[in-house]
Amino acid sequence: MTRSFDPAAARADILARIAVAAKASGRVTDDVTLVAVSKQQPWERVATILETGQTVFGENRVQDAMAAWENHRDGVELRLIGPLQTNKVKEAVAFFDVIETLDREKLAVALAAEMQKQGKAPRLYVQVNTGEEEQKAGVIPAEADGFIETCRKIHGLQVEGLMCIPPAQEPPGPHFALLAKIAARNGIEKLSMGMSDDFETAVRFGATSVRVGSALFGPRG
Ligand SMILES: *Cc1c(COP(=O)(O)O)cnc(C)c1O
Repeated sequence: MTRSFDPAAARADILARIAVAAKASGRVTDDVTLVAVSKQQPWERVATILETGQTVFGENRVQDAMAAWENHRDGVELRLIGPLQTNKVKEAVAFFDVIETLDREKLAVALAAEMQKQGKAPRLYVQVNTGEEEQKAGVIPAEADGFIETCRKIHGLQVEGLMCIPPAQEPPGPHFALLAKIAARNGIEKLSMGMSDDFETAVRFGATSVRVGSALFGPRG
């Protein structure tokens, strides 16, 4: 019989590793938020992590997140980390505390209008496609400054942070460094970067939140 995966022990280990990486780069642990990526996980694993005191969770699909979290929303911060279609903006604004995937003007327009209408302002991150991958969402680095400016000046949106998902086959460090550089020159302090395989590297490059799924919950179904 194989021992079953223990999400609570995994979380303690991940938090310890975040603390070591933060300290090694002259930062404090509290600077880094662990976002528990609960997409496609059985609820019992999510419940185990909730019991440890974890309060920040990431989901990549609006509909799935609403189904999973509808009755567990109290005291939980939910972040949308997957692509957002404009026809889901209404639900996303109503349901999420943070939207990390603002990546095109059409979406900025829709978000601005919906936030106005609902009188609710989820915190926003601009997703940057640092690897300029065809299949990946996000603004390309050369267009990031202009897009951030458009979001702020034309659409009145506050951009809290930047988010990236580096190409799977490349060392992530240069991508994290690039995201940090774009943030710095735009006066942005929050950086959502790093996942199960590279969150310590991301912390060393200045991540203020890391999005960890499989290392925390076990492999997705
Ligand atoms: C699924 C997902 C993660 C978590 O990935 P793991 O490798 O399981 O940690 C992080 N960020 C985004 C945007 C994701 O879609």
